[in-house]
Amino acid sequence: MKIICVGRNYKEHARELNNDIPKEPVLFLKPDTALLRSGGEFYIPEFTNDLHHEVEILVKISKVGKYIQPEFSKNYYSEISLGIDFTARDIQNKLKEKGLPWEKSKAFDHSALVGKFIPKENLNLSNLHFSLIKNGKIQQKGNTSDMIFSIDRLISYISQFFTLKVGDLIFTGTPAGVSKVEENDFLEGFIEEEKIFDLWIR
Ligand code: MG
Repeated sequence: MKIICVGRNYKEHARELNNDIPKEPVLFLKPDTALLRSGGEFYIPEFTNDLHHEVEILVKISKVGKYIQPEFSKNYYSEISLGIDFTARDIQNKLKEKGLPWEKSKAFDHSALVGKFIPKENLNLSNLHFSLIKNGKIQQKGNTSDMIFSIDRLISYISQFFTLKVGDLIFTGTPAGVSKVEENDFLEGFIEEEKIFDLWIR
């Protein structure tokens, strides 16, 4: 399986990092070694001094697809979840300055936290509230209605470049409020009122 991530899909987050609002989706990938399950611990890698959480709605692909039209995207996923795109911001900033690829800052081991999956039925995917609680306080909150590119548009766009396979995950971008994590932080993610993941930082 592969993990496809979307960058800068919320205006307020693009602004907080001084990035332009994109005219087409910004994409990057993480390998399967980036996967981290909810309920465990995340060890801050030694190569960064500025590790950020980015809470994101994610989609699990349930059917093989290529050149999917946006109106048919709904047929290619049945479950969604919430996760964290962990980012070594100090390394990413250096790579961005030089125009180099982001992988070292984004695709390292355990950089993709994945919560429990919930069926998309009964959810209004175009108006879904989600949040990240850090040490008991709201740190990030977002709503899918603020996405620049909707889930269905993202699936269509991504499938022009990459064949989507069963089990692939799409991280759909983070809202504003990203911040540094420290040892012994406790992170919890919610979609509406339902807890989707928790994680200790070590
Ligand atoms: Mg992200």
